[in-house]
Amino acid sequence: MKNWILCFILTPLLLIGETFYIFLGAPGAGKGTQSSLLKRSFSIPHISVGDLFREHVKNNSPLGLRAKEYMERGELVPTSLALEMLFERLSDPSCKEGAIIDGSSRTLEQAQLLVQQFSSSSDYVAILFDVPDETALSRIEGRLLCSKCSTPFHSLFSPPQIDNICDACGGTLVQRSDDKGEVAERRIEIYRESDAAVNHFYEQRNKLIRLDATQPPNQLFEQLRLILLGRQVFS
Ligand code: AMP
Repeated sequence: MKNWILCFILTPLLLIGETFYIFLGAPGAGKGTQSSLLKRSFSIPHISVGDLFREHVKNNSPLGLRAKEYMERGELVPTSLALEMLFERLSDPSCKEGAIIDGSSRTLEQAQLLVQQFSSSSDYVAILFDVPDETALSRIEGRLLCSKCSTPFHSLFSPPQIDNICDACGGTLVQRSDDKGEVAERRIEIYRESDAAVNHFYEQRNKLIRLDATQPPNQLFEQLRLILLGRQVFS
């Protein structure tokens, strides 16, 4: 869809606040894991477009029914649907001091539309979780997700204390159907179609921080913690 048509549909909210952290990286790069760790240390909302879609699918909402056909194939849901849903969530008062925004710049067009939402009084930074495709794939294929609170685990790298039970809320762990086989590979392929353009977009604006996301989760978390502490007043 043409950019100007989307701009018309997605009237800017002009988000006013502190800092918005835009998480970038392949599926399986560790964005969800780090977000759930950060949520425990900082009172910052975490908005994952994929989680919002999964919630709609679970509730069989009209949006969920439309999104499901794309998600099952590992394809992107049309941008107008994804961003309309994201901007609605961002307009919630809980996001007025900023948020972690995960999975919102899948294409250059999405990055451009997202940045238009920020007012001059709010700051944003894009954090790239850099991993090779093989690492991303092996992480995706062992990933388990809590069916209640979406906390991620990994069958080998970060197993739950009790088999198939979420440490955080006691919910049942499930494997996402799009984390398997060809669909998982397709998602990484789609990511690679746009990642260079998206990274370049943020880099040109001096807004890109690249992190080596192959390092152990606790080390990566420490780097993220310092970034958030340095830029932000959340406590
Ligand atoms: P994720 O949980 O981030 O891996 O996203 C799961 C699925 O949700 C993706 O494979 C897409 O089908 C859809 N999705 C998530 N974010 C977006 C987005 N920004 N634009 C379009 N589709 C998205």
